[in-house]
Amino acid sequence: MHDFSSKHIETESVRGGLNQDEQYGCVVPPIYLSSTYTFSGFNQPRAHDYSRRGNPSRDLVQNTLAKLEGGQGAIMTSSGMSAINLLCTVLLKPGDLLIAPIDCYGGSYRLFDSLAKRGAFDVLFIDQRCPIQLKSILQKKPKMVLIETPSNPLLNIVDIEAVAQIAHEAGSTVVVDNTFLSPVLQKPLALGADIVVHSCTKYLNGHSDVVAGAVICKDPAVSMEMAWWANNIGVTGAAFDSYLLLRGIRTLVPRIRQQQETAEKIAKFLDEHPLIHRVYYPGLESHEGHELAKRQQQGFGAMLSFELNIEESEFETFLNALNYFTLAESLGGVESLISHTATMTHAGMSAQARVEAGIKNNLFRLSVGLESSEDLLSDLATALSYFKP
Ligand SMILES: *Cc1c(COP(=O)(O)O)cnc(C)c1O
Repeated sequence: MHDFSSKHIETESVRGGLNQDEQYGCVVPPIYLSSTYTFSGFNQPRAHDYSRRGNPSRDLVQNTLAKLEGGQGAIMTSSGMSAINLLCTVLLKPGDLLIAPIDCYGGSYRLFDSLAKRGAFDVLFIDQRCPIQLKSILQKKPKMVLIETPSNPLLNIVDIEAVAQIAHEAGSTVVVDNTFLSPVLQKPLALGADIVVHSCTKYLNGHSDVVAGAVICKDPAVSMEMAWWANNIGVTGAAFDSYLLLRGIRTLVPRIRQQQETAEKIAKFLDEHPLIHRVYYPGLESHEGHELAKRQQQGFGAMLSFELNIEESEFETFLNALNYFTLAESLGGVESLISHTATMTHAGMSAQARVEAGIKNNLFRLSVGLESSEDLLSDLATALSYFKP
């Protein structure tokens, strides 16, 4: 068996798991659906005994995920939320403190808040861009610090290296949710994080047909502990999902680079449009996190939000006029999506909490897909042309 290792993410993402079939010489690995495995003899287990604990299809995608993030081990889970839940299970006990971003993913907020209310651990939500609030990390000595950058939906950028340094001084484990950029555009472990977590449902799979998650660790011992717990609590990913995810990852690099190129054009177009009050895209110089994103990321990504100056009663007309932006939650697929933050992804937040987070009622979020940038730009231009500035 040829075990390659390349320092180029283009190669690693394409070649994961290829050419390993010794029975038929399949180039692409088969899907191993078996839930159980024969013992080769009495008291002689093989590498796998039961698919919750270990599965060859899942092994392949886990190896690829670890290589892409530069980690020593990866666990693929049934969803992004089960990956985050796994982290809480392994890292946090009653009385331990978790520090999470004030603008973290809604599902993560709900999980932390509900588990904390049951006494599983304590949680504190802070703005990690604020030096005064960051000092609370040193004072309160949290067990785990979760960073999410860029954040949703305002694309706020947090300095991973700086937060990791403070958190390590306080003895914390540093976790970065890298869902919005993928390892193509951001490498949290190289910036000082201990663990990367993903919703593979988004860019990694990229085709909006799998729900999956991943935990990738810098330390092999921590990775083994995560794998033990993932089997223990039963959150490991399914064989078919593993296969689809590995297949999606093969095109990750060109997908995200092309989507990003189009997103940059759309951000510029919207930024100059008289009906758009404000565009949130780290690639724009006007974005508060632009310089930091330039330093920390290998690109600005393909997600952006904008405030649209039309009446709320006109939102439906605008959305119906779009042909190539589908009104749906989620992100990172090959198809372009639009979502209205207040009624969709952040509907669970109170109106007051949204105001405090700077999320206006006229905020829309785009996940820019792989369609022709000309089509996407003219689609937006046409839909906007129905309204007067
Ligand atoms: C979608 C998402 C999650 C949750 O992942 P699921 O696969 O939907 O469970 C976590 N974090 C971020 C940033 C996300 O966008």
